[in-house]
Amino acid sequence: MNIDALGAKVRTGGRLDRAEARELYLHAPTALLGQLADEVRARKHPEGHVTYIIDRNVNYTNVCVARCNFCAFYRPVGSSEGYVLGFEEIFRKIEETIALGGVQLLLQGGHNPDLPIEWYEDLFRAIKQRYPTFKLHALSPPEVIHLTRTSRLTAPQVIERLIAAGLDSIPGGGAEILVDRVRKLLNCYGKASADEWLDVMRHAHQHGLRTTATMMYGTVETIDERLEHLFRLRDVQDETGGFTAFITWSYQPEHTELGGGEATGLEYLRTLAIARLVLDNFDNLQASWVTQGGKVGQLSLAYGANDMGSVMIEENVVRAAGASYCMDEIEIVRNIENAGFVAKRRNMHYEILGDPIFRERAVPRMLHLAVARADGDTSRAPEVVNYPARSAAEKKARLTGH
Ligand code: SF4
Repeated sequence: MNIDALGAKVRTGGRLDRAEARELYLHAPTALLGQLADEVRARKHPEGHVTYIIDRNVNYTNVCVARCNFCAFYRPVGSSEGYVLGFEEIFRKIEETIALGGVQLLLQGGHNPDLPIEWYEDLFRAIKQRYPTFKLHALSPPEVIHLTRTSRLTAPQVIERLIAAGLDSIPGGGAEILVDRVRKLLNCYGKASADEWLDVMRHAHQHGLRTTATMMYGTVETIDERLEHLFRLRDVQDETGGFTAFITWSYQPEHTELGGGEATGLEYLRTLAIARLVLDNFDNLQASWVTQGGKVGQLSLAYGANDMGSVMIEENVVRAAGASYCMDEIEIVRNIENAGFVAKRRNMHYEILGDPIFRERAVPRMLHLAVARADGDTSRAPEVVNYPARSAAEKKARLTGH
């Protein structure tokens, strides 16, 4: 296959098939791949805006029965390092977010058997009652599937109940690579098969929710499996049109059971660029500066990304695996403008909310990432005892008082 002919096909708006995408991913010079991705970005976003959102990444529990071997964040049921955040702790985090101009929580956590669907419903309702316009971008597809198992409801039923309680959007976490061979090797097939993950997203879109899609690469997958992942997402987007954005990042190996190394910055940029070319029906691609650092994050804007994701107020998952980059709004805007774009704040639907908020009013600078819980804080969330205990460890803790 001729690389120049494939470049010409992209430039005239042609759709790549798998063999063509493979050829470009493996053999196109990096400069050309970036140029093509940048042209597609410019075609979709001719006004030259690069967006970002002010939100907070809150992990409500680190207790998880899934035990993915690439994850450094989770703690097994009964671990002395396990936590569940109390509702008041979550309200406090929301208030800090609102003070910074924030509009939503990205709320995700482990698969904790002692948190039934009612816990989530009560939390969502309480948040919406206190902060009616604040949005909940919450519970990735594997968390929804976990709730189908503990509640014995179907995925559409779980989604309906969560929407009734206040869910606004579902984040695309837990996709890893949407190929079951890979999922079995990563010990994440049990939490959700590729089809289950995609089905939750289909149901969410059919229920009127917009969601994001992600890909974590660089563990055990082949190049063809990465492409399979992208083409499966493209197919669902053709069906539903419900994905707002795609975000890819490289596996972070530190403190994980799987171990291994981390993909390079160049591999990240090539992967981002090929995603922009394959996912011709996705409007938005985020730069993953949280895993790649601010400098590669900024370069992403020349490789197909049109969004800098979120101002990072709190981060627990990637930090546990060794990466902890911090950029507040001033720093994100500096990177966007230095790359020649116009910085705009957005909401979860990628609608523009306005110019940078720090230019409108004084906001505190956030130069250090917050964590879910301060080290050594072993307090128990008071609400948990309002729901029946499911795990033996929790039943014992309630009997013994610790
Ligand atoms: S990645 Fe998520 S589901 Fe897997 S072990 Fe970590 S917290 Fe649990």
